[in-house]
Parts: sequence; C-alpha cells; structure tokens
Amino acid sequence: MVRISIPTLPITTWSATTRLAMNAQESYKLLEDFLSGGPATVLTGAGVSVDSGIRAYRGKDGRYMNPNYQPILYQQLMAPGNAGKAFRQRYWARSYLGYPPVREAKPNIAHYSLTALEHHGFVNRLITQNVDGLHARSGFPKEKLLELHGTLFVVKCRQGHELDRDEFQDMLSEANPSWKAFVDDMNAQGESLRTNPDGDIELEGRSYEDFVIPPCPTCLKEGRHETTIKPDVVFFGETIPEYKKQQSLQEILDADRFLVVATTMATYSAYRLLQLAHQNKKPIVIVNIGPTRGDHLQLPQIELPCGDVLKECALRLSRPNDDQGRRLLDVLRSWPITTKI
Ligand SMILES: [Zn+2]
Repeated sequence: MVRISIPTLPITTWSATTRLAMNAQESYKLLEDFLSGGPATVLTGAGVSVDSGIRAYRGKDGRYMNPNYQPILYQQLMAPGNAGKAFRQRYWARSYLGYPPVREAKPNIAHYSLTALEHHGFVNRLITQNVDGLHARSGFPKEKLLELHGTLFVVKCRQGHELDRDEFQDMLSEANPSWKAFVDDMNAQGESLRTNPDGDIELEGRSYEDFVIPPCPTCLKEGRHETTIKPDVVFFGETIPEYKKQQSLQEILDADRFLVVATTMATYSAYRLLQLAHQNKKPIVIVNIGPTRGDHLQLPQIELPCGDVLKECALRLSRPNDDQGRRLLDVLRSWPITTKI
C-alpha cells in the first residue's frame, strides 16, 4: 500500500505580518509598473476560477474549505480489481454529476484581463494549475498556455487512448439511465451540486455500486474491455508528466519576470517554479489574498481580489489597435469592480 499525503500548508510557519500593507491604488501601481517593465510569465491557481463558480480547495488561511473533503488518489483510481473498480465508480459517478457545471462555467474578469494583457504584450506565457479550460475559453492563445495539471476535457484509458470528455459524458448517460434521470430531476427543480476544482462533487447518501463505466471504444475495437479510465488531469499522488515539468521549468528560466496569481502554491509543482524564479533573481509579484508557501521569501504581494487588480492594470495598459483588442477592452470596461477604493 502506497501512502500518499495530501499537500497541506505549514500555516504556523507563515507570518502575515511580513507582507507589505498596500491600499488598492498602491497595489494597482505596483502591478502596472511591474508589467510595464517587460512581459511576464504568469502562474495561476484555483483562486482565479472561483468567480466562475468553481470552488478553491483552500480558503484565505490556506486550509481546505471543506475539511472532510478527501480527493480520490491516483493509486486508488488506477488500482486493479474490485478495490480500484469501487474508486472508479465513485469518481465517475461524482464526475458525471459534477462535469456539466464545469463545462458550462464562463471565464471571469481575471481570465479576460490576463488575455488582454497578453494581447498587448505585457504577458507572454501562462502556466495554470487549473484544469477547467477557462483561460483558453477567454481567448488566451493555446500555444502560450501550459496546463500544468492537465485538462478535464480529455479522458484517457489505461492504454493511453484519448477520448473527448463530452463524448464520454454521453456514454456515461447512456450506460446509467437512472443517474441521468437523477440529473434531469435535479435540473428540473433548479438544484445544483457543489463542484470541486477537479470536477468532483460532494454527494451524500447515494451508493455508487450500480454506476457503470463504459469501456474505452478504441480498446473494444482491439478486443479488450478496458474500463480503467481517468480524466487527463494530474491526481493527488500522481506525478506531472516529465515533459510538462521540464517545459514549466524552462518557461521560468526564459521568463523576464514572474507573476503569481491566486494560488497558495501548496503543490510542489507550483512552488518549485517560484523557487526557480527566485533563485534566478527574476522580478516576482504575487497577487493572492492570504498566506502562500512563498511567504518566507518576503516578495511583494498584493492582497486584493485578483479580478479587480488584473482588470485595473489591463485597463491602464490596453492600447487596442485591432478588433480583438477592442473586444477585450469592452469586456473589461463593462465588468463591475468589487474593491472599495
Ligand atoms: Zn483504450
């Protein structure tokens, strides 16, 4: 049995008092000056997607929002036999219910602001820990986007065959008519379930034993009944693919400056990017409310909602000279601001 520990933050070693106290105007100016100095490589985390209705795992103090939430581990999901099957049934039943809100989630002002900043040359690369696809949906160029922890929109069987998540959702509906009826009922009553960032949902008092995982269609054609299927996201207990790890490190080495947005960097794959940027003396700014794993480095940190700060900077720095630039500026201008100045 492999023992995996879910990353938690050493809260007691962090000191909020070492962080700069800045008002909103000072914060905006800090970020505007920082981005004016040269294009930034950006790292984003779950906090960016909260305003799109996708919950962060951790709250302001870095602890899990729901202390009882236990994400399924990679080793559990991939385990052979009935033990693994039970975990896969639990995962896919919950993902079946949790996927539609993620699929329908819309980018928020933080996503659009980063896209505008990229469009005007103030951001040149974006590394995201989010698997919700919202950066791309806001128009951020895919070739400049690294989804460090993968994407919910692709599923893979154990043999490595890829399948579109929407297509798999239809297969799940077909294989599980009673679950589909449950979802249809819920929708009819206007109810919704709380969705976690990995597309999982919390569901009490329902057994997963009857949930059927349809076999991989490509494997079926090859005469194999393969139902060990997982979304193309990095699970707790799973390592990031080596090429992706190397690419993320290279992007930091190539960066002029490093902007961290709405992440505590609790996972090591994110924290080592900060470490590398710091070791290589890259200018760094963090936009995050509350402590992060990088607190001991005493870096400039803006503690305001990331959407407000990014929007204000994007408005100040945008000089649209094409249709896309003008469209993005319209989005920024029409978005309400929530910070009191
Ligand atoms: Zn397959």
